[in-house]
Amino acid sequence: MPGAFIDLGPITPSHCTVCRAPIPQVEDPSPGVRRWARHLNYMNHLQKYHPRYYKWSKRWTYSLYLPVLPFGLLALYSTAAKSIPLLALAILVLGIPYLPLLLYRWRKVGEFRGTWSQIGEA
Ligand SMILES: [Zn+2]
Repeated sequence: MPGAFIDLGPITPSHCTVCRAPIPQVEDPSPGVRRWARHLNYMNHLQKYHPRYYKWSKRWTYSLYLPVLPFGLLALYSTAAKSIPLLALAILVLGIPYLPLLLYRWRKVGEFRGTWSQIGEA
């Protein structure tokens, strides 16, 4: 069902990652519109109250795409060479950078929360 993916909007947490404020729901019969509208609400909230976190989070999200590049090249090469060990290596190469990236985010979010609770901006 290719149509199913069009309906899916971005995943938005129910509460703000930094200050835990609830992100307002938007009433709409379409789940896709609901998700996008909530996502925009969240982005507005971040821009308004946590501009530094907003900028950092955007950069971090882009960095998630970086490991895909070596993975794609290796996957292409191993498919051409019909090599299963190479394909396994490609999957490993894809997986390895995500653990430190997630750990890094977890620590950074903790810092932003700390700054927010102390001086009310992050
Ligand atoms: Zn917030």
